[in-house]
Amino acid sequence: MELEYKNHESPILKDGIKNYLIDIDGTITDDIPNEEPERMSTCLPFLDALETINKWYDEGHQICFFTSRTEDLKAITEEWLNRHGFKYHSILCGKPRGGNYHWIDNHLVKATRYKGKFTDLVEKNVSIQVFKD
Ligand SMILES: [Mg+2]
Repeated sequence: MELEYKNHESPILKDGIKNYLIDIDGTITDDIPNEEPERMSTCLPFLDALETINKWYDEGHQICFFTSRTEDLKAITEEWLNRHGFKYHSILCGKPRGGNYHWIDNHLVKATRYKGKFTDLVEKNVSIQVFKD
C-alpha cells in the first residue's frame, strides 16, 4: 500500500485511492448470523459485488472486508472468499453487531448503505449529520 507521510501525522493514501471497508453478511452474500456458521461455506456470492469489488481492486484501491464475524470464523471466511475469486487485501473481524453505524474519525469517511444492488458508486446530494461549526 502506497502511503504519503507528512509532518509527523498519520499517513494518507495517494490521491484517488480509497480504503474500501466492505461488509460481508447481507452485502456480498446472504445475511448469515454468527450463530449459523455452517452456512458460511455453502452460501453463494452476489455476482455484482464480486465483479465490482474485483474491479476496484484492479484499479488499485484497498479492499478490506470488515465484518461482525468473530476471529474463530476468519479461516472459513478466507477460504470462502478465495474459493469464489474475491480479490482483497485484508479481513477485519469483530465489527460491532446491530447496525446503525455512525463513524467518527479525523480522516475523511464516506458511507454507502447496501440495498440489494452492488454497482460502481455515483454522486447524489443527501443530508448528513456533522459536528457544529
Ligand atoms: Mg451485514
